[in-house]
Parts: sequence; structure tokens; C-alpha cells
Amino acid sequence: MYVRCAYCGRWMDAKPGHLNMISHGLCSPCFEREMARIDEMAEENTGT
Ligand SMILES: [Zn+2]
Repeated sequence: MYVRCAYCGRWMDAKPGHLNMISHGLCSPCFEREMARIDEMAEENTGT
């Protein structure tokens, strides 16, 4: 199975078996960016 970043499209990993399947995840830079965005959203929501 191939693992591809859903954000930038970078290939991250290839796992044995199911070689015709593609799984989507986030690479490290995109993951950190997404975590920062979630943090910001959480902070915005805490005041209410
Ligand atoms: Zn990425």
C-alpha cells in the first residue's frame, strides 16, 4: 500500500501488500501545519 500526503501530494511510504491501493495521510510539514491550525481553532473556541 502506498501512503501519500493528502496536502502536498508527496509520497511518504510504501508498505508491503495491497500495492494497488493508495492511502492518504499527512507528511511531517503538513501535519505540523495542520496541528498549528487546529490549535488556533481551539483557542478561538475556548473564549465562548
Ligand atoms: Zn505534505
